[in-house]
Amino acid sequence: MNQSRSQALFERAQKTIPGGVNSPVRAFRSVGGAPPFIVRGEGCRIWDADGNEYIDYVGSWGPLLLGHRRPEVIEALREVLDIGTSFGAPTEAEVELAELIRESMPSMEMTRLVSSGTEATMSALRVARGFTGRDLAVKFEGCYHGHVDSLLVKAGSGVATLGIPDTAGVPAAFADTTIALPYNSIDAVEQTFRARGDRIAAVIVEPVAGNMGCVPPRPGFLECLRHETEKRGALLIFDEVMTGFRLALGGAQQLYGIRPDLTTIGKVIGGGLPIAAYGGRRDIMSQVAPSGPIYQAGTLSGNPLAVRAGIAVLRRLRSHPEIYDQLERRTAQLTAAPPAETTVNRVGSMFTFFFTKTAVTDYASAKTSDTKAFAQFHRAMLEQGIYLAPSQFEAGFVSTAHTEQDIARTVEAAHRAFAAR
Ligand SMILES: *Cc1c(COP(=O)(O)O)cnc(C)c1O
Repeated sequence: MNQSRSQALFERAQKTIPGGVNSPVRAFRSVGGAPPFIVRGEGCRIWDADGNEYIDYVGSWGPLLLGHRRPEVIEALREVLDIGTSFGAPTEAEVELAELIRESMPSMEMTRLVSSGTEATMSALRVARGFTGRDLAVKFEGCYHGHVDSLLVKAGSGVATLGIPDTAGVPAAFADTTIALPYNSIDAVEQTFRARGDRIAAVIVEPVAGNMGCVPPRPGFLECLRHETEKRGALLIFDEVMTGFRLALGGAQQLYGIRPDLTTIGKVIGGGLPIAAYGGRRDIMSQVAPSGPIYQAGTLSGNPLAVRAGIAVLRRLRSHPEIYDQLERRTAQLTAAPPAETTVNRVGSMFTFFFTKTAVTDYASAKTSDTKAFAQFHRAMLEQGIYLAPSQFEAGFVSTAHTEQDIARTVEAAHRAFAAR
């Protein structure tokens, strides 16, 4: 595979951008080689600077549920170009998007739009602390909630991939406000609430974890979180930045039938534009400024381009509920016959092949994966035109643009990649 232009661009990038990338996992550190520099995307395909074509299972790390350049999204963006790209003033479209979010995800009675998932989780946590008057937050090892200071403790995604220590640049006093527990451990949650329940502001969780690879909640786990928080006056925050609108129109909370107090969404809601949101119970969200004392603001929050893209995505999902059955079928096809030396986890259109025979139910079991074998597999797939996340500790994503043929081609490539090892 010719990668000479990507290689040259990567060398040039490293002179002015840390590690040559604007988000760490993009650097392909754990699989080696230069990352392909991407020049174009269409449907489920992307092309790099050397003209290589790939079937894309990264989908911009989750946002592209409808694939690249979905016509409704492109059309919505064109319309915005005729009226102006930012006003810093209220617009009708923001109201429409908040209403669409509430209709899709009823627990989000009120919503505040922000520009990234990190901003959404940071703000939701502040609101939880302001509302409860408590400081402590419970999170789970291997879950990633953006690069919020106090949530970088035992974090997943790039932090896991690069094996970065928890606290570089994070004051100990911030990290000390976070209690990190093993994912899926009902015992640990009950014990923690028995010991410190009256000081806990919130439990924040990926209801289906995606940032240590895909790890579903075990039966009773989310129910336990709902029960313990309610009993002790803490808030339950579902971080659905990855799962919102991906696993179902109403996200993981619809799939598992749990109503959190606050929810964060992002990724899919922007269709590839920078937007995210946090929201939830009216009595809690009413405490946000200017209606309450908890401050949060954003110059580009509710940006017209991102909002219009979001409306286009939500309208499409709402008018085509069969999309979710199609995603389920396609992803099941992709994960139907995992090689003997792997464990496959899947929920809807999120999946991960772990290079371990151990069942992966938390961060400790995810880490039993043979990351060298993963790196070889990743390279062999790339060379066959299959673009997977360059880390064992990430979820793969199927979009509505992937056809049965695309999936069949990917399965064949995977068999060859395994056979070659
Ligand atoms: C991606 C992600 C975030 C962070 O969102 P950014 O837009 O990258 O800041 C937060 N939580 C979860 C669950 C995510 O997957």
